[in-house]
Amino acid sequence: MTSAHAATESDAPRTAAEGPATGPAAGASAPGITGVLRARRLLRGLLDPTPLRSYPALDRRLGARVLVKHENLQPTGAFKVRGGLVLLSRMTPGERSRGVVTYSTGNHAQSIAYAARATGAPCTIVVPEDPNPVKAEAVRALGAELVEAGSDLDGARVRAEALAADRGARLVSPGDEPDLVAGVATAYLELFEEAPDLDAVLVPVGGGSGAAGACIAARAVAPGCRIIGVQSDASPAAHDSWRAGACTSRPNRTRAEGLATGRGFALPQSVLRDLLDDFVLVGDEDIRRAQWWAMSEARTVAEGAGAAALAGARAVGDRFRGGRIAVVCTGGNASPEELRRCTAPG
Ligand SMILES: *Cc1c(COP(=O)(O)O)cnc(C)c1O
Repeated sequence: MTSAHAATESDAPRTAAEGPATGPAAGASAPGITGVLRARRLLRGLLDPTPLRSYPALDRRLGARVLVKHENLQPTGAFKVRGGLVLLSRMTPGERSRGVVTYSTGNHAQSIAYAARATGAPCTIVVPEDPNPVKAEAVRALGAELVEAGSDLDGARVRAEALAADRGARLVSPGDEPDLVAGVATAYLELFEEAPDLDAVLVPVGGGSGAAGACIAARAVAPGCRIIGVQSDASPAAHDSWRAGACTSRPNRTRAEGLATGRGFALPQSVLRDLLDDFVLVGDEDIRRAQWWAMSEARTVAEGAGAAALAGARAVGDRFRGGRIAVVCTGGNASPEELRRCTAPG
């Protein structure tokens, strides 16, 4: 890991005057470890730590000691709820009363809806038309208003921006929010506390907030541990942005919703550029196979993105032979069709 870090620390208490009410401050900077510790304090009593487990069959398959961090066991079935709760908890009561608006096809929506319900804020989620009925129902069950608009996430974003401006509500970006990064980084504090001597942690990447949080936590408490990002080669925007050193757009065709992004996000990329050790691409078929390993060898239902770190561990396998690594099972919200597809090895 390098010691340089371009992003400025921003751990001072937030004030109502800071930044526009409708979104994060423009050019918002990444949290430092102090922000992550504050996030952990905020989450105390709201979320239990998630289990860290090992499975002999996975160790054998990968030729290393493999620890699985079970973020699939969060109340929303994915790690993102850590970030949502921190963001909503840090809004002022006045801001919360005007509500939050965001756009998402997946776990980010459930995270913000869950956090809004927990903190008593009105919540609107904009999804592209014809959404996955399972995810749409989960959002409604959490009491959020669901608006269908646009043919893709970009169309949904345009509507979300208009709604937030109309209502004076807080627009939550799925990628460029320091509080979301600080929140999800707490998963890695937990991980390093339990396993301080890891050679590497593999982290699935979509927008990159999770991996940015992993890097910030590792730099502070486990500087010898390498952080390795994993994305699908069918949606390589974050990976390619990292390699190019600039945010770029790419085709977005992966089946793994959590890894699906068409562009790099500036805030997480600024952290990854300095601190991420490596970034690998895997195929959607590799991910499907890893979902089967999770099911058959770790008794774990992982959605595609949730099994991507395992697929990545297989891809970099020889590098850590005989060593100790962790993979983060980031989510378990597989659709019925997805479950049918991955309940067989072939
Ligand atoms: C969102 C998500 C990811 C990717 O996280 P980012 O912070 O967007 O990089 C990985 N896995 C699951 C299950 C997700 O929901």
